[in-house]
Amino acid sequence: MKKHNFSAGPSILNHNVIKAAAESVIDINNLGLSLLEISHRSNDFIKIIEEAKSLIKDLLNINEQYEVLFLQGGASLQFYMSALNFAKRNGKAGYIDTGTWSSKAIDESKKVGETLILASSKDQNYTYIPEINEKIDNIDYLHFTSNNTIYGTQFHSFENISKIALANNTKLICDMSSDILSKEFDVNKFDLIYAGAQKNIGPAGTTLVIIRKDGFEKNNKLPTYLNYQTHIEKQSMFNTPPVFPIYVCLLTLRWIKKLGGIKSIEKNNIKKANLIYDEIDRNSLFYGIVKQKDRSNMNVTFQLKNKKHEDTFNKMCHAVGISGIYGHRSIGGYRASIYNALKTESIYVLIDVMQKLEQK
Ligand SMILES: *Cc1c(COP(=O)(O)O)cnc(C)c1O
Repeated sequence: MKKHNFSAGPSILNHNVIKAAAESVIDINNLGLSLLEISHRSNDFIKIIEEAKSLIKDLLNINEQYEVLFLQGGASLQFYMSALNFAKRNGKAGYIDTGTWSSKAIDESKKVGETLILASSKDQNYTYIPEINEKIDNIDYLHFTSNNTIYGTQFHSFENISKIALANNTKLICDMSSDILSKEFDVNKFDLIYAGAQKNIGPAGTTLVIIRKDGFEKNNKLPTYLNYQTHIEKQSMFNTPPVFPIYVCLLTLRWIKKLGGIKSIEKNNIKKANLIYDEIDRNSLFYGIVKQKDRSNMNVTFQLKNKKHEDTFNKMCHAVGISGIYGHRSIGGYRASIYNALKTESIYVLIDVMQKLEQK
């Protein structure tokens, strides 16, 4: 039985994407060769990476001031790499602390230089998005995490934070690992966006980086591999790129384009999120963990009011093929990750189980 995959990452991919990806492993473009055994310098692969980049640019409305890169090392390497490239000598960096992933980014920044925490929701176990003071210290850049995969909170608007960055004449950096391509936004407000592919774009193994070419400090003393300039100049081909993950990203991007682009994806995501949050609020056995206005449209966190139902609920979920619904080990409870590729039908299956539990 095909499962209803609510996993937080690596996560669900569209079924036709997976099928085409599988075929490419046997034979790509009828070459009589597998995608895995052709040169990354071959025309066949160059076409793949170029189309992937141009679809990202097209879907997110990105202009020529930006470069789209497919790198390796995950979002986790970007924590350090972004700090290394955007910090000026003797400068300070500013971070918004909204949970585990931002805390990890903060730890890496501290290895590079002075790091200020401009706002944090740690006081309430990261269950809300904190307000940011309009007047901030003189910093080199402002870093935040747009969607907090573990806690289930999300910045629903970038208006305020980008206004603050602009007013304070500072660069804006965002970790969009778990909500990139899920909603429309203005890339022009950002100097750097990065996202591990395995939440909403493709399999693990590549990281999408969108960088403003004149937005960072050029410094040829940096380790070659950790210098964005290297990857910009070499067009993501400084070393052998992860060809298979990039190809699967391309297949996902084509699928999004065919669906009508980000606008229609976003509409569908809002619909899916509303369905499940409405049930959490209506159902007498469950409650949502985070502040209502900051609820994520990608990772829906919730709990049972009474733990005695846990075993039954888990078994019922299992019986209908619901997979990956348990909360992150650090907070427990439940987390339904409802990324782009998750069908509304799967949401209905989950809602049905919640209702049947209540009726028992
Ligand atoms: C998953 C995740 C990461 C870590 O990504 P890796 O690619 O595994 O390094 C970082 N930030 C956010 C918001 C995430 O969801």
